This record gives sequence, C-alpha cells and structure tokens, in this order.
Amino acid sequence: MSIDRQTNSREISQKRAKELKGRIADYLDAAREIPTGFREWERIKENQEKIMEVLGATSDDWYSWKWQLRNRVNDAEKLSKLINLSSSEYEEISTTGSRFRWAISPYYLSLINPDNLVDPVRLQCIPTIQEYYDTQGDQDPMDEEHTSPAPAITRRYPDRLIINITNQCAMYCRHCQRRRNIGEVDYHAPREDVEKALEYIQNNPEIRDVLITGGDAFMLENKTIDWVLTELDRIPHVEIKRLGTRTPVTMPYRVDDELVEILSRHLPVYVNTHFNHPLEVTPDAREACLKLAGAGVALGNQAVLLHRVNSNPHVMKKLNHELLKIMVRPYYIFHAKEVRGTSHFRTRVEEGMEIMEHLRGYTSGLAIPTYLVNAPKGHGKTPMLPEYLIGMGRNKITIRTWENKVFDYENLEPGGGYE
Ligand SMILES: *Cc1c(COP(=O)(O)O)cnc(C)c1O
Repeated sequence: MSIDRQTNSREISQKRAKELKGRIADYLDAAREIPTGFREWERIKENQEKIMEVLGATSDDWYSWKWQLRNRVNDAEKLSKLINLSSSEYEEISTTGSRFRWAISPYYLSLINPDNLVDPVRLQCIPTIQEYYDTQGDQDPMDEEHTSPAPAITRRYPDRLIINITNQCAMYCRHCQRRRNIGEVDYHAPREDVEKALEYIQNNPEIRDVLITGGDAFMLENKTIDWVLTELDRIPHVEIKRLGTRTPVTMPYRVDDELVEILSRHLPVYVNTHFNHPLEVTPDAREACLKLAGAGVALGNQAVLLHRVNSNPHVMKKLNHELLKIMVRPYYIFHAKEVRGTSHFRTRVEEGMEIMEHLRGYTSGLAIPTYLVNAPKGHGKTPMLPEYLIGMGRNKITIRTWENKVFDYENLEPGGGYE
C-alpha cells in the first residue's frame, strides 16, 4: 500500500472511530449516575453497622448464612427500627403482609438507600399497598399445576425439567411469579417426593438436563444438595445439572466453602441467579460468584424486567456489564408475568424490545441476554427478538445492522451461482 493510501485509510478509520464514540456518549453519561454495589459500598457498610447494632449481631453472625436466615426481617415493627418508615408505610406494610408473605435478609436490607423512595432494592423487597389492592393477574399463569407428571417435577420441554425442591427463599421478591407456593411456612419437598422425582428422571431417558429450583435451591442444607446431585450423577442420561438460586444477590454468605467443594465434585454444574439491578452487584456478591466460578461452576443470570427497577436500557446495560465483571453471564431477561399482586411492576413488551435494541452492537455479545415472554399455560419460554432480517428474496436477503443501516446480502446455494 502506498503511503498516501495508508494515510487515507487511517483517516477513514479515525472518522469511523469518532462516529462510534458518539454512539456510546449517551450511555456513558447515564451510567455515571447509576448506583452500583461497588460505588455504594461505603454507604452499605454503614447500613450494615446500624442493622448489626439493632439486631445485636457480631461480625461472625453477619457472615453466617444461618444467622442471616434466622434473622430475616418480616414484620413492620422490626423493619421500622432498621429503616425509616412513614406511618402510612408502616400501616401499608402490615396490611399487605397480612395477605402476602414477606421476609428480607439483613444483608439485602443493607443495600437499600433509605433516602431513595424508589430504591431498586427497596422496590423488590418491601411490600407496598399496590400488591394488596391488585385485582389483576392470575395466581398460576404458567399452569404449573398441570405440568407436573410426578411429585416435585415441572416438565414443559422434551429434554429437560425442573425439580421444585423447596419453597423457601432468603428474601421473598415482591415480583415473585410463584407467590402461590410461598405460603406462610417454609417447606422443603419431602425426601420421598424427591425420590419419586428422581425415579421419574431415571425412567425417562430423554431427560438430559435437570434444573433444581424452587424457591431457592441453596436453601437446602449442603448434605441434601450433595445427596440430590449424587443421585442425579448415578443416572447415565443426565448430562448436566443446574441450580436456581438468588442467594448470591440476597444472601451471598450462603456460598460457603463446603457448598463450593460439593458442587466442584458434581460438575458439570450450572448455577443461574437473579440480579436485577447494578446496585445488587456488591463486593460480597462478587466474592460468592468468584468462589463458584473458581470451583468450575458456570454462572448465568436471569433478570426480570420490572417497572422502575430496571426498565431502562442504560440500567440494563450497566447491570450486564457489572455481571460480566463478576463472572456471571447474562442469560435471560424475563418479561414479568401476570401474577396477582405484581401489576405495579408491569412493563410493556416495547420497553423490553428497546432494551434489546440498545444492547446488540452497542456492547459485547457476552452482555446480551435473550429477552423472553412466557407463553400462557406453560407453553414455554418464547424469545422476543428485534428484527434484523428485514427482507427475504430468492437469492438475497435484506438486513438491518445495529445502527439501522440497510444492506442486501447474497444468499446462495452451496457452490452454485444464480439460476
Ligand atoms: C425455564 C424452564 C426450564 C429451563 O429452560 P432453559 O430455556 O433451558 O433455560 C426447564 N423446564 C422448565 C419447566 C422451565 O420453566
């Protein structure tokens, strides 16, 4: 290449680079203002000190998941000592609490910025009166009651299924889709139900992927997790095991050394968790995720699109970036289902589509999850995809790029030309 041509292509490249810089300017401005668990850590630690004092906790208590679980906050009286509540909020929490169960781990509570009434963590864990007065939505929109061919099993797909191992969680999400199972008491599936579920898997050789969830799979004792994984490892056609847990978000101290050691003995193991906002990605959450990743566990995230919590393209992009930094691969964004008591979290599908448009091309493919709607009656996860294939001719297609540039693209048979 001549010097002249080199200079020229460099200039063109530099012009293009400048244009690309412009494509990200609005995100960079917005992202500076988005609170993350790392940026807010000092404030969170102050909250932690205060909560520990009120609950009379030692530092050993705080980092013990059993202590966190035993000390979940679940009444307005106790909550009012830990976070400022107006008298109307106090009443509303009590009213809603009489219908819907709630409980918040002290750790998750410490993430809340008390000065922000629409704090994304607060919205997810503290009950509001909207839940109580919600008359819309179904108790069981996915018809899970009719997709259970054996005790504790939900089967909706040809080659994989769920074992619902417990209804317990470290924190009961206000947007929970399985509210009807949460009830008032913690309930682990009885051993004989799990045995029947394992027997079903044993007898159905097309099942190659078993997802243990609930509730929260990490609410089980380590030895129970070890037992279930050992039993699954005995079934030759079970190729992979997955566990669903929100504890890296709500109670990261659950990921103790013994659990990590157990999981590492049962690879391949995949853990899917549920971060919804960058504020939840804290140094302690990072430690839990890095321990799991270090043991060889592959981590994925299933976010739920929630009005005011994360229904914003910049917040979602920032969340996905924060997740990749702690070795968690964004897997799904779920469109929130119609569940009684959650309609204040509802978004329109257009909002989800806009988020997806703001991801592809603008950021790493690794930071792009699939956006899903759950079809009615348990007919399965259904991807909502922006259209990039916008025309289909005989030997050509028309495509649209992430920047909305339109191109024709040849689409030929192997080896052959036209005709
Ligand atoms: C979500 C789900 C799975 C797992 O689906 P993937 O898309 O493979 O992650 C399996 N079984 C049931 C019943 C489910 O709801």
